Amino acid sequence: NQTIVLASRPQGEPSADQFRFETGALPQPAAGQVLLKTRYVSVDPYMRGRMNAGKSYVAPFEVGQPISGGIVAEVVESQHDQLPVGSVVVGNLPWQEYSVSDGAGLTRIPTDKAPISYFLGLLGMPGLTAYFGLLDICQPKAGETVVVSGAAGAVGMVVGQLAKIQGARVIGTAGSDEKVAYLKKLGFDEAINYKTANIAEALAAAAPAGVDCYFDNVGGAITDAVYNNLNKNARIAICGQISMYNATEVPVGPRPEGKLLTTSSLMKGFIVSDYHSRWPEGVARLSEWLAEGKLHAEETITEGFDQIPAAFLGLFKGENTGKAIVKMA
Ligand code: NDP
Repeated sequence: NQTIVLASRPQGEPSADQFRFETGALPQPAAGQVLLKTRYVSVDPYMRGRMNAGKSYVAPFEVGQPISGGIVAEVVESQHDQLPVGSVVVGNLPWQEYSVSDGAGLTRIPTDKAPISYFLGLLGMPGLTAYFGLLDICQPKAGETVVVSGAAGAVGMVVGQLAKIQGARVIGTAGSDEKVAYLKKLGFDEAINYKTANIAEALAAAAPAGVDCYFDNVGGAITDAVYNNLNKNARIAICGQISMYNATEVPVGPRPEGKLLTTSSLMKGFIVSDYHSRWPEGVARLSEWLAEGKLHAEETITEGFDQIPAAFLGLFKGENTGKAIVKMA
């Protein structure tokens, strides 16, 4: 039974050296427990923050201890009343081929509604992040202009599609021409390759009527450009700042307060767990739109337990389109 532990804390950009594979005995479930076989592992940008020491909204990973995150697993042995063999669950579990659990924090998921990996993406944490951040904070109205950065990623692709469902005009930024083409296919009105375009000019051209809603996944220069195009009463959801997660110095740049002041804009940061009590509502709505063909889920799936660190590191190089997932062989 293989486990991936945090070998050391990164300075700046993480590398494969930060991960160590350890082999142990297959754990045995005690009374009230299940043995879980890992089926799909989610790699997520927020895990970069957990690799640092110090306080944040989730506890840091400990050096020498297993890394954990979103996992879809199958019950292969059971001493648990509610989780018989064959049940499929999603939850926060260690990066291990097999693990034991008493079921706390696990959610049983249907196997006949959608591919089970969707519960790590569109129907899971990233989809819910898009759902609450966009609909609760940005509140786009028909005809308004919505910009989403990191648009071709797990959260961004859902944000753009939900904004289209609301009748908004949607502009996305992403890091390659392939991703730009993908976003157009998905129904985005405009998509900008921030690596090759002059972002300030491209954004002004793509949003001639200004920006009413901004869903920020990345921060940095893209976000600075958006602030120059805000309309009166714009709403900004700060979801992520991936362009700065590997920064070794506090990033400085244009300060947006003056723009917020003169446009009467609202900016709000949020964590998807703020909405924990409403997750069932979110999953139900997203599932409906998926079933109606109004939402599409893109996944970049790599295969093999040994590929988990590489898939995680790939997030910072833009290797994924849609949700980055590792499937167990
Ligand atoms: P993604 O699937 O979007 O993967 C990360 C993507 O970020 C990459 O594919 C890459 O795309 C882009 N990226 C990487 N480095 C940079 C950079 N320096 N500048 C701009 N873009 C970069 O991840 P998620 O959809 O899971 O997460 C998106 C954001 O949302 C993250 O910031 C994450 O931390 C945040 N988040 C926040 C949550 C919350 O509760 N607030 C919950 C879930 C996620 P490209 O090719 O376009 O560069």
